[in-house]
Amino acid sequence: MDRPRRAPMTLAILMMIWLAGPAAGQSALRPVEVMVVNQAGVAADVLAGAQAEVARIYRTVGVQVVWIPVTATGGPRCLYVSLIPERMSDSSRTPPGALGLALKGGELAYVLYDRVDRFARALGSRVDMTLGLTIAHELGHLLLRNGAHALVGLMRPSWGAADCQLAAFGRLLFTDADAKLIRARLDRDDDAGWF
Ligand SMILES: [Zn+2]
Repeated sequence: MDRPRRAPMTLAILMMIWLAGPAAGQSALRPVEVMVVNQAGVAADVLAGAQAEVARIYRTVGVQVVWIPVTATGGPRCLYVSLIPERMSDSSRTPPGALGLALKGGELAYVLYDRVDRFARALGSRVDMTLGLTIAHELGHLLLRNGAHALVGLMRPSWGAADCQLAAFGRLLFTDADAKLIRARLDRDDDAGWF
């Protein structure tokens, strides 16, 4: 009587091992290098929390953010995010109320940290999470190579209380359409036209 009972158990264990194997996880992630230049003096714990949020958001679309330290040299596809105080921003290029700015078709985005901090406090959101969302949004513009916004989700042109509630549950994310475009961009195996 033992043999027929053991066979299904063995099969179940094998299936669990197979489902937990590498094919179901990390191997599909596309890497993207990002260097954060902290000119706004953002506290280390806030920045670490923000980077964790950015990495989490990009993992949901199959992308692994590889953080390049400022002391290193980024590769040819490295993207740069400069965290700056509002006084360093170019008011002629930064609309009032904008939390960040991505240079069109470029590799560089700015995040105005004072504004992010004020926005988060006004809506009762965590500053590190809001900074992460802002960085993820601006990186989204760089990867999508356009200034287009979505009607829903992370790439909305502005966020309100409902968006911040979604964000608190980890649900303010890229749309499926934008996720596909980002993956297609990262899958290009030639550097021509990358920027
Ligand atoms: Zn935007």
